[in-house]
Amino acid sequence: MKRISKEERRKFYNSTAWRHKVKEILEKYNYECLWCKEEGKVTTHYHKILEVDHVKELKDYPELALEDSNLRVLCKWHHNMRHERFEHAPKKESKWDDERW
Ligand SMILES: [Zn+2]
Repeated sequence: MKRISKEERRKFYNSTAWRHKVKEILEKYNYECLWCKEEGKVTTHYHKILEVDHVKELKDYPELALEDSNLRVLCKWHHNMRHERFEHAPKKESKWDDERW
């Protein structure tokens, strides 16, 4: 299993290919968070921020980066929950903010 570096991931998330893919996936799933839908949740304002998530994480499966079957829509809230960004606060490994250059 090959892994890719932070820098490579940053490049990927900024690539045109990924941006186009995000749009495609959002449209495919009607701009709905998969987990909210499963919970039959009312969409709150915060939930409206939608992100495309890699089922198998990009860092572990870079070859699946643009595979439709590996992509799903999650709202920001659920996406954060999935990556546990709330529990392990900053410092340790703040995945997103660190990747800002
Ligand atoms: Zn959600």
